[in-house]
Amino acid sequence: MSDEVDIAEENIELNILAAIEACRHRPSLPAKGSCWFCDEPLPAMQKFCDRDCASDYEAEEAALARAGRRRGNDLHAE
Ligand SMILES: [Zn+2]
Repeated sequence: MSDEVDIAEENIELNILAAIEACRHRPSLPAKGSCWFCDEPLPAMQKFCDRDCASDYEAEEAALARAGRRRGNDLHAE
């Protein structure tokens, strides 16, 4: 049973490491205390929950850039 817990914790750790690694590719994006993709509260240094949020954010940002609009702090502009 404890093995399962260990594996779960290891996966969380790997996800955090992957998220930190993903952020290294985007040094311009500041940590804001929550996930840039889903706004989940996070530790101050973390920008994404995990690799999924990081890659989803990148995909969404790329789509918005193609549409001629960048995601900013004015999410409620409409
Ligand atoms: Zn997230």
